[in-house]
Amino acid sequence: MAEEPKETKQGFQNPVAGFGVTFKAMFKKRLTEQYPEQQKTTAPRFHGRHQLNRHPDGLEKCVGCELCAWACPADAIYVEGADNTDEERYSPGERYGRVYQINYARCILCGLCIEACPTRALTMTNEFELADSSRANLIYTKEQLLAGLDEGMVDTPHAIFPGTDEQDYYRGLVTEAAPGTQRQVAVSKGEVPVSTNTSGAPAGEEAEG
Ligand code: SF4
Ligand code: SF4
Repeated sequence: MAEEPKETKQGFQNPVAGFGVTFKAMFKKRLTEQYPEQQKTTAPRFHGRHQLNRHPDGLEKCVGCELCAWACPADAIYVEGADNTDEERYSPGERYGRVYQINYARCILCGLCIEACPTRALTMTNEFELADSSRANLIYTKEQLLAGLDEGMVDTPHAIFPGTDEQDYYRGLVTEAAPGTQRQVAVSKGEVPVSTNTSGAPAGEEAEG
């Protein structure tokens, strides 16, 4: 009896072999993620949305040097620095980041910017939900990127901790805002100082009698 040609045998076996792959996959652990109903925890060093950090008293770590912007391969960062004054201080040293923007339509979350930052002002969080249908909304401003206030912090602008200098901040000698520290008036942002009357009370709250 003549033997069946090899090609005919393979033609019959190939579809069966294909189903074998399907059967094997049916008994494997499912990899489907039920996002967004079930959020998965990211790796601790995941590169997510950026954050502009503060010193323990609330002053900002960013000195407006633009090194992060120069390091960025996607040209996603825009920084404008400005001088601090004693009346309006945002960081312990001479300069601070007046304007800070990251364009997440450009950013590839590579992390080169945080490596370039000399003050550890810029780090990355684990937040990854950055999608938006508007390009304008993808440009995050300094106000959106600035870290919130922890205990012992006062919002900027405010005075440097008395008796310290910028170096002391980086040595870790300032651990909280000095007692009585108050937020200064941000005149450069259009805030108007509250005028006081002769009684020392804010305008419109003159003492009776
Ligand atoms: S993570 Fe990369 S692409 Fe995004 S802003 Fe930083 S340097 Fe630019
Ligand atoms: S985030 Fe860092 S590198 Fe960028 S401007 Fe501020 S201090 Fe400089």
